[in-house]
Amino acid sequence: MTREPTPRKNGETMRQINAELEICPAPECPDETGPSNSYGSLMPVEIPPEELERSLRHFQGNECKQEAVSKSRKNRLLSDADGGKCSTCSTVMKHLIGIKFGHERPDAATLEHVNPRCLGGSNDDHNLAVRCNLCNRASGHVVNEWLQRHQYEPSWDERKSMTIYLWLEVYCVSMAEELFPDHFRSFTTKRKSMQPKTEEEVRA
Ligand SMILES: [Zn+2]
Repeated sequence: MTREPTPRKNGETMRQINAELEICPAPECPDETGPSNSYGSLMPVEIPPEELERSLRHFQGNECKQEAVSKSRKNRLLSDADGGKCSTCSTVMKHLIGIKFGHERPDAATLEHVNPRCLGGSNDDHNLAVRCNLCNRASGHVVNEWLQRHQYEPSWDERKSMTIYLWLEVYCVSMAEELFPDHFRSFTTKRKSMQPKTEEEVRA
């Protein structure tokens, strides 16, 4: 499918696009205990400019969707994250090797593209994150719901906004909730619906 390149807004530059992202600089992330990724280090919240540039080219029809990450690279990243905490919910993750699983394994480590491939997300290291199975699935639900709402053709501004939300959801969840309450509500509602029920809930 080819897409007609959409003209940029007058005078809009990547500098301006990045300036908009300054609403969420890393040092101001209010969660002082986090956000740590599965490797235990603090991650910057800023989206690398090359990631947004790639997304913009994709939106304009000048960049292909990225291939899936190779199995060996995926396994290496998942294995590195084994025993680490999900950056969003702090679940201790397990690398389940050679096992197919659904949402019944909330603690399974899963690899995701923070900026989704369908929005032009890259396979660069900065765009790959390991999160727990439930956070990954719930996040996918937020994107699908949003795409449906925009008849699968969200504008560039909407795409940028979604990418910022997703970045915050992974690296600074308190800010994701504060700045994007609707997306975050959709995320938490979906996540909760997939959580295994406690014994008390089963009996109720
Ligand atoms: Zn999680």
